[in-house]
Amino acid sequence: MIEKKEFYINGAWTAPAAARDHEVINPSNEEPCAVISLGDQADTDAAVAAAKRAFPAWASTPVEDRIAKVEKLRDIYKRRGEEMAQAISLEMGAPIDMASTQQVGAGSWHMDALIKAGREFHWVAPLGDHAPNDRIVHEPIGVAAMITPWNWPMNQISLKVAAGLIAGCTMVLKPSEESPLSAMLFAEMVDEAGIPAGVFNLVNGDGAGVGSQLTAHPDVDMVSFTGSSRAGKLISKSAADTLKRVSLELGGKGANLIFADADDKAVKRGVLHCMNNTGQSCNAPTRMMVERSIYDKAVETAAEVAQSVTVAAADQSGNHMGPVVNKTQFDKIQDLIQTGIDEGARLVAGGTGRPEGLNRGFFIKPTVFADVTPDMTIAREEIFGPVLSIMAFDNEEQALEMANDTVYGLTNYVQTQDPARLKRAALALRSGMVEMNGKGRGLGSPFGGMKQSGNGREGGKWGLEDFLEVKAVSGWP
Ligand code: NAD
Repeated sequence: MIEKKEFYINGAWTAPAAARDHEVINPSNEEPCAVISLGDQADTDAAVAAAKRAFPAWASTPVEDRIAKVEKLRDIYKRRGEEMAQAISLEMGAPIDMASTQQVGAGSWHMDALIKAGREFHWVAPLGDHAPNDRIVHEPIGVAAMITPWNWPMNQISLKVAAGLIAGCTMVLKPSEESPLSAMLFAEMVDEAGIPAGVFNLVNGDGAGVGSQLTAHPDVDMVSFTGSSRAGKLISKSAADTLKRVSLELGGKGANLIFADADDKAVKRGVLHCMNNTGQSCNAPTRMMVERSIYDKAVETAAEVAQSVTVAAADQSGNHMGPVVNKTQFDKIQDLIQTGIDEGARLVAGGTGRPEGLNRGFFIKPTVFADVTPDMTIAREEIFGPVLSIMAFDNEEQALEMANDTVYGLTNYVQTQDPARLKRAALALRSGMVEMNGKGRGLGSPFGGMKQSGNGREGGKWGLEDFLEVKAVSGWP
């Protein structure tokens, strides 16, 4: 059993102010795999004070030097990638091969993009030819609280920490209490990279404790949050009293519009994307909307693809699906599958209960529902598990209307060979991201949502801007 009870504060691993143990459960076998501490107000205050003290020197460190430190951090992160994959796989259940390729890979990809963006960024930019003596100066906002979820731990931590560091902010990271091991390993890497004491701090805790203390703290200048829309609302309220900036990356309920002229891999690609990371991705295409003329065939293919997905423990190598993160999620997903059945959706793959032969661990059957209607619970709620809902549409207008009929607006997907339709759909879909015909996002593309999916943009230059103030200076010599 791993024991890691200290927090990283002011450049040193520090004992918590009060002992409050928390067990991390291995979702593949439901056994405790680590003990950490949950912090209290004194730990939060110490970390915020360290970040506040470190801010003036870090903010005035030349940006090239800050970027050089992040490059060093990225190199250490790449070198220690296998260790990181082990930590992620153990704590949140991503299969080990997927953890080392996708989960760890996402972190280095984001750091690469932010380093590039930092080099290209116009830190002091002219306003335009019409105003030759005006300059727009970008300055770090100050002390940032970074609160992250467990589902893609390094994806989110790298996006926030690397952007904050390059921007010149100092920070306190509170990772999810479900996935503290990877975050603490990341803190070790920050230390190894020689980032000055107090610039980066880590305190473990839960939302009601350290999370809320950070969002309400008078010396925290901004909150960068990734997690559920439910917590995003609480955080916005908590941050309101001190009027701090709040950048939110929240939930999603992505639609995947498959038109009759889509390529022949579109359905398979959509099912596998929905099941990736055991369905625990904010941008998962969970609502597959299929043009009526190819609907029956698409349902048949989707069921076959889901049935071909194998499920196994996270420490087994190979291309399979792991468990979901914890008992709460397991129970919630089981309930939602039952609700789908009760509300009249047609179950064509999976269902309630564990997959055969897996009696322990938070394993869920890859599940597909057909004949889902827009009013059903499974079409509206973020399930955050391997559950796909398939719906039929008759024309483009109806497809776009159904896709937009949600409180969320993170990522939508479109599959068609018709370029004019692709462009119309890209403009009509109310989401921060639209991905077409299986083409993934390019390096440095902004990640973020509309509506109740949040207001932040992470990655590349937009990710830097989240941590920057804009100062207008006139009369520049
Ligand atoms: P969560 O909201 O329960 O927790 C996320 C983090 O917030 C954790 O660190 C938690 O301790 C903390 N927290 C919870 N309540 C808080 C409060 N009141 N004040 C301060 N901190 C609080 O979410 P989760 O279950 O860890 O993650 C899954 C959710 O995250 C899903 O809804 C998913 O869609 C979303 N997500 C969004 C993105 C994105 O970029 N848009 C990316 C990944 C995950």
